[in-house]
Amino acid sequence: MALPGGIKGVDELPVEGKRVFVRVDYNVPIKAGKIGDDARIRATLPTLRKLIERGARIVLGSHLGRPDGQVKPEFSLEPVAARLAELLDVEVALADEPVGDGARKVVSDLRDGQLAMLENLRFDPGEEANDETFARTLASYCDVYVNDAFGTAHRAHASTVGMVKFVADKGAGYVMAKEIEFLSRLLGQVDRPYVAVLGGAKVSDKIEVLESLLERVDSIAVGGAMANTFLEAQGKHVGKSKVEKDKLPVARNFLRKASEKKIAIHLPTDVATGENLDDTNVVVARVDHIPADRMALDIGPGTVELYRRVLTEARTVFWNGPMGVFEKPQWASGTVAVAKALADNKLALTVVGGGDSAAAIAQAGLADKVSHVSTGGGASLEFVQGLDLPGIAALRP
Ligand code: ADP
Ligand code: MG
Repeated sequence: MALPGGIKGVDELPVEGKRVFVRVDYNVPIKAGKIGDDARIRATLPTLRKLIERGARIVLGSHLGRPDGQVKPEFSLEPVAARLAELLDVEVALADEPVGDGARKVVSDLRDGQLAMLENLRFDPGEEANDETFARTLASYCDVYVNDAFGTAHRAHASTVGMVKFVADKGAGYVMAKEIEFLSRLLGQVDRPYVAVLGGAKVSDKIEVLESLLERVDSIAVGGAMANTFLEAQGKHVGKSKVEKDKLPVARNFLRKASEKKIAIHLPTDVATGENLDDTNVVVARVDHIPADRMALDIGPGTVELYRRVLTEARTVFWNGPMGVFEKPQWASGTVAVAKALADNKLALTVVGGGDSAAAIAQAGLADKVSHVSTGGGASLEFVQGLDLPGIAALRP
């Protein structure tokens, strides 16, 4: 499969008997040494199986958490290496450092078809600083570079950008290739209507995406806490709801721009309210009658109906950000309804991006019913804005 910009896929790279550095995103949730969701590890198995089958000597590199350039045992990749070994049913040799004599030894001991993993790359300050010496050292461990870590492609770090120019051959793993393939389709000629559903916590996190979507979409449906700020910007009273007071001018400006461009912005007409997040007494209120002592924690049934209709007519959909506090069952209905509407629309290209949105659609059991669920949060948002992600740019010839 040809990727945009002439980026090579794993199948096109000469990997037989070569040392292949694979940048993976194994930044998985770990509590007391136990891995929670191992989806990010599983996602890379096809790439790794292919490389093993072709007799590559695989050197895995990943970050985990934010150790801030220091060796912190609680951020060790040890449980990750163990889980990977279990999933692949092969040995995974873990170096006790990202670079150094130990790391070099683990790599040089590799035989064809074997795997080694470097310790958490962020144990070294050179990783996030994109330090050239650190990047050259990583590059000295390999002959071929493969990036399968879309989630970090928007960061110019040593393992995503710096080392790449020092390696002879480079390309994208299957995870990265699928991300590029689907997300690129949102930037080219799309089937219309193209509808974006934006929700989540903050206007400030998403305003750049919103602004750039104005250039591409036919309408935007807004939910989540973000919607409260827009409602207040329209002069509505949203009670005790989470609102970003300092973003009201930004919200007003956005609504004005959208109306000039004749892009429909759908805002909630009703909301599900509670006294607090744990309240199980759900009271639906129209948005012009939100009680002063309650907070909007989900979109209401009238809004669900409206958004469902918009999404049924859509032929391209990008969804980022839950419609409510979906982590609590009493505030999950709006988010689940949006997930269902995407899943039911078999005529549309349906793409979901964002950490919490991906978790929400998985929780609803509908992840395999949409065209693509992006593994990247920030990276997918930057991609749909049309920004050139440094980790992808580095893979071009
Ligand atoms: P994503 O990770 O998909 O980009 P965000 O991180 O922007 O999404 O937002 C997710 C968070 O927003 C969730 O933790 C959710 O509980 C919260 N949220 C959604 N709606 C509301 C609301 N009405 N009030 C408070 N928090 C909300
Ligand atoms: Mg999030």
